[in-house]
Amino acid sequence: MARYVGPVCKLCRREEQKLFLKGSKCMSPKCPVEKRTYPPGQHGTARRFKKSEYQIQLREKQKVKRIYGLLERQFHKTFANAERQKGITSEILLQLLERRLDNVIYRLGFAPSRKAARQLVLHRHFYVNDRVVNIPSYTLNAGDVVRVKEKSKKLEAIHASLKRMRDGKLMPWLDLDKAGMKGSLLNIPSRADIPLEANESLIVELYSK
Ligand code: SF4
Repeated sequence: MARYVGPVCKLCRREEQKLFLKGSKCMSPKCPVEKRTYPPGQHGTARRFKKSEYQIQLREKQKVKRIYGLLERQFHKTFANAERQKGITSEILLQLLERRLDNVIYRLGFAPSRKAARQLVLHRHFYVNDRVVNIPSYTLNAGDVVRVKEKSKKLEAIHASLKRMRDGKLMPWLDLDKAGMKGSLLNIPSRADIPLEANESLIVELYSK
């Protein structure tokens, strides 16, 4: 499985905003976006010209893609899947991204970031409806239950992440049983329930060119 192995914080700096890709560091003053508010590279501080329509659409797509930790091919495949379904493509795209197993594990608080969640899934620490699933892109349906494997319940990384997670932050479309170390997807989230600051219709416009 192809994955991005370059410097992660550079991705946030490129989008000129926090994408929360690194867990606890993102909340600390060590976050590079706090110190350097310009894009990385030799021309990062150069005078900026008005962005073209294409640039705006491209940056929006790159931002969403990076937040969910996908590479271009995978993201485009998800978009094509959203396009095939009935309804508003931009909303379905976000719903498909939110329903990914790695994202749900992150949202439930079992991992401090989507990247960490992906690693836990690959290392087979989770059951989905009593079956071990090691595919981070696995799409969950309403009613699906995600559970930490019995053997993995002692993992310090999961406990530390759960401790950091405040109950108030749980998404309304998720249910969490901290003691039982399991959670479930109550329903497919609506756009209003997805806390993502993005204009996803720009992505549809970009891919429709
Ligand atoms: Fe982005 Fe987090 Fe790095 Fe800050 S610390 S630049 S939010 S990944």
